[in-house]
Amino acid sequence: MPTYYIHTFGCQANKSDSERIAGDYEARGYTEVRSWKTADEVVVNTCAVRERAEHRARAFIFTLAKYFADRTKRKPKIILTGCMTHHGDKKLYEMIPALDEILPINEVGFNSAVVRKDKHHAWIPISAGCNSFCTFCIVPYSRGREQSRPLEEIVTEVQGLADHGYTEITLLGQNVNSWGLEKVGIGFRKLLMRKDRPFTREDLPSNQSQYLQSQGTPPFVRLLRKVSAIPGIQVIRFMTSNPWDFHDELIEEIAHNPKIDKYIHLPVQSGSNNVLFRMNRGYTRENYLEIVEKLRKNIADVVIGTDIIVGFPGETDEEFLETVDLARRAQWKIGFVAMYSPRPGTAAWRIYKDDVPHTVKKRRWEILDNIINKDHLQERPKVM
Ligand code: SF4
Repeated sequence: MPTYYIHTFGCQANKSDSERIAGDYEARGYTEVRSWKTADEVVVNTCAVRERAEHRARAFIFTLAKYFADRTKRKPKIILTGCMTHHGDKKLYEMIPALDEILPINEVGFNSAVVRKDKHHAWIPISAGCNSFCTFCIVPYSRGREQSRPLEEIVTEVQGLADHGYTEITLLGQNVNSWGLEKVGIGFRKLLMRKDRPFTREDLPSNQSQYLQSQGTPPFVRLLRKVSAIPGIQVIRFMTSNPWDFHDELIEEIAHNPKIDKYIHLPVQSGSNNVLFRMNRGYTRENYLEIVEKLRKNIADVVIGTDIIVGFPGETDEEFLETVDLARRAQWKIGFVAMYSPRPGTAAWRIYKDDVPHTVKKRRWEILDNIINKDHLQERPKVM
């Protein structure tokens, strides 16, 4: 019987995709093995969010190729998928000669069979891709335009899980709360490819909600109500949310729906309006704090977490201190703090110079990590 092994790097979206890739193998009669050394096919599901993540995937494939180069056993077929596919086939085969195949990540359909390891909790993809263009982010290029999964499909999958004893679900998407709003497509790639003049910050479409109040209840809130109504499902989580689609009605739904978990992950990325503009985040620190205040006012036991990038191009000491100040005000319980690294192909890579020295990025990372994750809220940080 042929065998497969999947090695997954990166976020929950990748882990969820890997469950569906495994389902596809099983449907074709393959059996999973615990070690790549004995597999006929090895899938490497990659992450490209930072340079280090790509290095780790390449190092893994290099180790694997080297292992088989020294042995008589035939090298397994090595298949790369995930966010590194944004490089394009030609470049990937040049960069990683050991590769045998590249699987575009958008070929992993929502409705592929799924192999789940957990028997109580399930990841449910509700959308793929992204219609926003944060300048630092590779997702719009690696995963393409946002595509919402139809409501009936999601409900059928959740119902099936409940019938099999699952009690907890996490709805997954790059922007879960813009689910159902992707009518407005953006022909942005063409813009990036223009040759007549250098690409600038002004060329970027602004990230903003595509929801209009006149349309009634936001689609994501309607989806939450539908899955909440399924008997057997006791806990519903969702990630990730973007601040420009975090509408009041969603806050009310979280407050009043006992099945919705009260941990909200709300990436801010920076506390400086100047940096947020360079990142094209489509909101200000004031807008963000307003959402935090509404969450705290309406949901007594809410817990808020965030993502932050330090050392974004041009970030001054003063701009960084605005993020420190926001940390004190927002009182996040968890913060995933990352040092900026330019990702080839992104708008930031095209427009800005990576001009904050690594030592400064590291110092800023330590300061914020201490403040948010180690509870040193009283210390006044010294910024390099
Ligand atoms: S909202 Fe911004 S950071 Fe999130 S996936 Fe889309 S482009 Fe990337």
